[in-house]
Amino acid sequence: MSSTLLYRAFGFRQYDCVRPTTADGIMTLHLWQDPTHDRCSYCQSPDVIRHGAEERTVRTVPIGGKPVDLRLPVPRLGCRNCGRIRQAAIRFTRPFRRFTHAFERYALSLLSHMTIQAVADHLQVGWTYAFNRWRG
Ligand SMILES: [Zn+2]
Repeated sequence: MSSTLLYRAFGFRQYDCVRPTTADGIMTLHLWQDPTHDRCSYCQSPDVIRHGAEERTVRTVPIGGKPVDLRLPVPRLGCRNCGRIRQAAIRFTRPFRRFTHAFERYALSLLSHMTIQAVADHLQVGWTYAFNRWRG
């Protein structure tokens, strides 16, 4: 999946899909971020050095009724400007969230037409967990 298709379908910039996989009915898109787009998440300086990465999985809007997860390595960046070492920000989600902004908007739009349980069943997420996370 090209970066152009990712951008047009999901609104993601600066990521490429290196491969899609499917397991247990969930499609997983394995993403990769070009290091030239690395920025310090504190001061936004591009003068950073990668210090490893941590794998993260985030749920996004479904395709054809199937859940879609995004899996990507989130680099730890050492900033030469401010001296901090922090994880790079992911533009399509908030810190510590398991859903993309697009998924949250989609779920909230469904809530105006369906019950919370119906939305949770449709999106295949636990409604208690999801609802509490969306409100926060
Ligand atoms: Zn910095």
